[in-house]
Amino acid sequence: MRVPIIAGNWKMNKDVQEAVSFVNQIKDHLPPASQLETALAAPTLCLVPMVKAAGGSPLKIMAENCYYKDRGAYTGETSPYALYQAGIHHVILGHSERRTYFHETDELINKKVKAALQNGLCPIVCCDDTMGRRIAGKKVHWVVSRILADLHGLSNDEICHVTIAYEPSWAIGTGESADPEQAAEGCYLIRQTISDMYGDAVANNVRILYGGSVTNANINALMAKADIDGVLVGTASLDPQTFLQLVHH
Ligand code: PEP
Repeated sequence: MRVPIIAGNWKMNKDVQEAVSFVNQIKDHLPPASQLETALAAPTLCLVPMVKAAGGSPLKIMAENCYYKDRGAYTGETSPYALYQAGIHHVILGHSERRTYFHETDELINKKVKAALQNGLCPIVCCDDTMGRRIAGKKVHWVVSRILADLHGLSNDEICHVTIAYEPSWAIGTGESADPEQAAEGCYLIRQTISDMYGDAVANNVRILYGGSVTNANINALMAKADIDGVLVGTASLDPQTFLQLVHH
């Protein structure tokens, strides 16, 4: 059975004090991780203080990115090895904003996914989709090719530690969510691709999330879809009470 996940992605929106205060406000109000997993991705500076604040609570603290080398002369980068040693065991990779503003390619993301897994981190790999491609009817090829490239060369064992997020870029931060049918279609295509690569048994265990303007108004309809195992939430994860409402949808 796939345990559902509600994951927040704060992006570059909180300082250390705000991040710790947020964790303290929510940590005693979360369901057990065996029932529903909760996670927050935060700016790098906030991660270690958040891990300490989260203590023994079910909340998972995630990095928003990492590099594919463990050590070396890579000024400004974050080591997946150092993240793991610091108690951060989850990382978002390939977010649409990283692809667009920092020109991350599928090849780079694939290297990062492999490095994350080799260091014991569980990645949430984001797979975007644009309105232009949807209108042009090219979405199928796009989503499939993203997954094939980003997950290229992973073993059956490794893929079991990967979560995938289907995030149409036109829905990210716009207030215009994909409707539940569109979101489910994207997640279904991703699961079919995983099935083609690794077989049905693996595909049925991999969790696939939807992300893009998820709010309290649409979370129930999204989570009701069979192929949607959770949500990756940006804007609506910034307020502790709203985040808790999403968790207890
Ligand atoms: C995101 O950044 O992954 C995201 C889905 O943002 P928002 O919820 O604001 O659309």
